[in-house]
Amino acid sequence: MKEITQKMRDTARELLSSGQVALVLGWEKGYPWYKSAPTFIDKVEDVERLVFDEFCHNNLSKYLLDLAAVDGKVALFVKGCDSRGVNRLIQDNQVKREQLYIIGIPCPGLKDPDDAAGKNWGDEINGAVKCQDCRFPNPVVYDLLLGEKVPAVERGRETRELIERLEKMKPDERYEFWAGQFNRCIRCYACRNICPACNCRECVFDRAVPEWLGKANNLVENQFMQLTRAIHVAGRCIECGECERACPVNIPLMALNRKIINDIEELFGEEPAGLDPEKKTPLGRFELDDPEKFM
Ligand code: SF4
Ligand code: SF4
Ligand code: SF4
Repeated sequence: MKEITQKMRDTARELLSSGQVALVLGWEKGYPWYKSAPTFIDKVEDVERLVFDEFCHNNLSKYLLDLAAVDGKVALFVKGCDSRGVNRLIQDNQVKREQLYIIGIPCPGLKDPDDAAGKNWGDEINGAVKCQDCRFPNPVVYDLLLGEKVPAVERGRETRELIERLEKMKPDERYEFWAGQFNRCIRCYACRNICPACNCRECVFDRAVPEWLGKANNLVENQFMQLTRAIHVAGRCIECGECERACPVNIPLMALNRKIINDIEELFGEEPAGLDPEKKTPLGRFELDDPEKFM
């Protein structure tokens, strides 16, 4: 990873000093040692801050929404999941491909910062839950690729096993499970804010008129928020796992997202989101001869 870090710095230096881009979006070492935070570099002398290590979790594509006013191109580093986030935003007309310089990093899989807490550098650390079922560790869109492509490998089954358990439950039991989870939700909106598929300029939950969602924290409104969000990202979720990672109360949101992805792929064929910005999403199109009368 030191080699990738060096290549990142060299690439950023070249792009900024030649004027090809106005801003570089990457990661820098944070505090404590098992955190690597997003960083925004617009000066050549700052490129040494860039790093790539097992804690570069943040999907940087979401920040592109706030960078529309940058005068010039924006370069950003992307892992496989991040690159699908970029395609998500391009497909949703939130960013333009020609405004970006995308630097791909084949991703070896990240570590779990919660497991790293209390340990030291070099200790054995569990893999990140979000990387367990990663189907696309290699960037699917880039202008430059740093390093050799890596194979997709299964790193764990936690989320898959939870889905299997939920599928075996009776509807009432499943309802109880999710009610118990959403009862713990503090409606902080971290899951929405970090999500590249949640990219509406004005979220329905923030609207005062009409007020779709009250401010009180209760199970009914928490469920309304979560189910609305799950449906809004259905067929559009790029499986980055950031919503679950950001959730401060550890609600297993990826079990919900992945279950919906599995069902959509079963019904419409495998069409993972964020691979092709030209292709309409399965729930974003219809056929005139659709057997469903409503259409
Ligand atoms: S989900 Fe895949 S691409 Fe994303 S960080 Fe994990 S292994 Fe890397
Ligand atoms: S719903 Fe979660 S996994 Fe899907 S795109 Fe949004 S943050 Fe990523
Ligand atoms: S991040 Fe977790 S606690 Fe916050 S709104 Fe989302 S599900 Fe609720």
